Formats: sequence, structure tokens, C-alpha cells
Amino acid sequence: MKVIFHEKYYEHYAHDPAAAPGRMEPIVRALENEFEFVEPAAALERDLERVHGREHIRSIKGDSLLFEVASLAAGGAILAAELTFQGQPAFGLIRPPGHHASPDSCWGFCYFNNVAIAIKKLLAEKKIERALILDFDLHYGDGTANTFNGSKDVHYFHPSGDNRDSYLKNLQAGLGKERTYGIIAVSAGFDRHEDDWGGLLKTEDYRSIGQWVREFSLESCQGRRFGLLEGGYNHSVLGRNVKSFLQGFRD
Ligand SMILES: [Zn+2]
Repeated sequence: MKVIFHEKYYEHYAHDPAAAPGRMEPIVRALENEFEFVEPAAALERDLERVHGREHIRSIKGDSLLFEVASLAAGGAILAAELTFQGQPAFGLIRPPGHHASPDSCWGFCYFNNVAIAIKKLLAEKKIERALILDFDLHYGDGTANTFNGSKDVHYFHPSGDNRDSYLKNLQAGLGKERTYGIIAVSAGFDRHEDDWGGLLKTEDYRSIGQWVREFSLESCQGRRFGLLEGGYNHSVLGRNVKSFLQGFRD
């Protein structure tokens, strides 16, 4: 399984917790001995335009560093999705995150909707007909939901629950529905961890979630699965949480 990463993701392209200095380094350290890293190319403008309006793209372009890093994050998502067709799962260790980016607006540390851009490209190229997006970030991915609002082909699933047990049961039940998809994409935010903003999940829960996604993908989408980093803000636990998820997610 490959991890998609680019040195430019280290850049401090904005003043927000997702862009904070020192956020990517501990994740890289946790993963670099266990996984092969590959470098993506930036997404092309036509890739961005499958999701975003030209005015929105132009507004991000006004900040050249932000545009460069955000385009590389979208390109990382595209590469992760494409690698799944070579018979291996992939994880995009990317930033800025994307799930709060709607077609014509964005907020919440997001600029381009990475997962939506990757899925739209697969649909446009007719590599898949249907996709499931599981988003286990603490926050609802309004941008992803808005992008695919009314779509019969792309299902967005953001599990909920009042406590750890009910949350995990809800997530697992959502993956138990028997429908077939071309791929499952995971918006992997780690801000629901007990030592992060959400204060709920334990590190080992991410491994369980990874395993459930793996099992789902083998049953419902020929094993095709990729994950993308969304939130997660406690630098002292992020590395081990991402690693835990990938240990369940990999083959
Ligand atoms: Zn979040």
C-alpha cells in the first residue's frame, strides 16, 4: 500500500490549525518506515472544474502558495484513487483538507474538495459508476455533501453517535448495507480522537474502522479503497492514529 505525500504539504500556506507548523511531520515519521511514499502531480484545472466554479478557483489562485499546495492536495487525492485500480489501496497524506469545500465556496480550513475531485474524475472517465464516501472526521463534510447532493451514484455517509460505542456501531452498520460500488473513499479526519477536539475515539478504534472499510471494499467494490487525511489537530497523537487506521486498512 502506498502513501501519497509531497514536501510542499509541509508549507504553511495559511494560518489555521490544518496548516499549522509541525502537523505533518509526526505522521510522516510514524509511516515512513512501514509504507512506500509516492509523490503526486498537481491537479489540472479541468480536474478542479469538475467540482468547482471558475470564480471559486480564481479566488484561490489569488494566493499563489495556497493554490499550489491545494492543487497538489487535489492531485494527491486523484493519485490515491488511481492507484486503487492497480490492485492496491492507497492513502493520501495531504493538506489542506477538502470536505468543507463546496462547488462555489469553502470554509473550515478547506479550499478544494479533494475527495470529490478524485471521485468526479473516476466517474468522468467511466472507471466507476457508483461510489461510497465514508467521512469519519468529527465534522460533517458539507462541501462533499453539497457536491453530490441529489446524486444517485455517489453516497455520502457521515456516521453519528452520542458515545464511542454507538458511534462505532453506527459506522459499522452503514458499511453493512448490501449495495455494490465501484470504490469506497474515506475522508479520514482524526479530530474525533479522545485527545483531540471530539474527545471520543481511541487509537485502536481507527484500526477497527480501517478493517471494516477493507472488508467492505473486498465484498462490495473489488477491494478498491482509498483514504485521504481531513482533520486531526493534536500533533502528539496524530501519527499513531493515522498509523492505526492504515494497519487495519492495508492488505
Ligand atoms: Zn474536522
